[in-house]
Amino acid sequence: MHDDAAAIINRIQQLKREHRAIILAHNYEPPEIQDLADITGDSLGLSVQAAATDAGVIVFCGVSFMAESAAILAPEKRVILPRQECGCGLADTATAAQVREARRRHPDAVVITYVNSSAAVKAESDICCTSGNAVNVIKRVPADREILFVPDRNLGAWVQQQTGRRLILWNGCCPVHDAIRADDVRAARARHPEAAVIVHPECRPEVTALADAVCSTGGMLAAVDRLPPREFIIGTEEGMLHPLRRAAPDRIFHPLKMNGMICADMKKISLVDVLRALEKQEPVVSVDQDTAVRARSALERMLDVPRN
Ligand code: SF4
Repeated sequence: MHDDAAAIINRIQQLKREHRAIILAHNYEPPEIQDLADITGDSLGLSVQAAATDAGVIVFCGVSFMAESAAILAPEKRVILPRQECGCGLADTATAAQVREARRRHPDAVVITYVNSSAAVKAESDICCTSGNAVNVIKRVPADREILFVPDRNLGAWVQQQTGRRLILWNGCCPVHDAIRADDVRAARARHPEAAVIVHPECRPEVTALADAVCSTGGMLAAVDRLPPREFIIGTEEGMLHPLRRAAPDRIFHPLKMNGMICADMKKISLVDVLRALEKQEPVVSVDQDTAVRARSALERMLDVPRN
């Protein structure tokens, strides 16, 4: 490690102790941020940790909707997102006004919202889900109720297939996962014929149909333990290769595509940003009280539902 980086990390550790802070990092963050973090994980895992920690300060290395969820679930804590401009192309596909309008068109529907959405959209929802528990959330809805699934049409299509329930799908998608095509899977299999293909459910149906396993990033770590091959092709944001290689050093992991599987928003936070955030104790993530109360009940219902 470069001397400068080592010095920055030492200072971060010192400030963490002084401020009783904890660093959470999503699996898509750069390797040096994941290695720095106290806890890494997917949206569901990090939401649980944010709610459970007794630290006074949460430095959230991820994107804004995740930090908002942490602030909602841990209102007595200071939640800091080191770079405020870390957004999400998927979350941007739904606004609260659009969800209210959709509710008017489907007044009897249960609104299930993927956590990759703004706090304002969560506040308009009956329950949230993550890619890790979406199937179980749907299974809990009485069979005679309509379901409006917001905002990821690909995740919605996948849970529709898993549950046999017909969902009203929002027309949003993650630009990173939606860019993966069936031909990319076929080309990856040709390059690595011994490997099992694991993809994220935000991928298109044509891609999930060709995979050996479809799971959240948290589920991928478990799938690697469960599946017999030693080699894997991973169809999600390339940051996920780092925790997989760390957790299973005896296995070989290949990205599904040679390029293009990068979420720019997940790569914005640097060690210097984390240091600056801890020094200044900002930027603090805040959600207005009314939105937070309503979003919190949708999130808490989600946390009651186990992983698929
Ligand atoms: S990978 Fe996709 S869903 Fe995840 S933060 Fe980036 S744009 Fe949003």
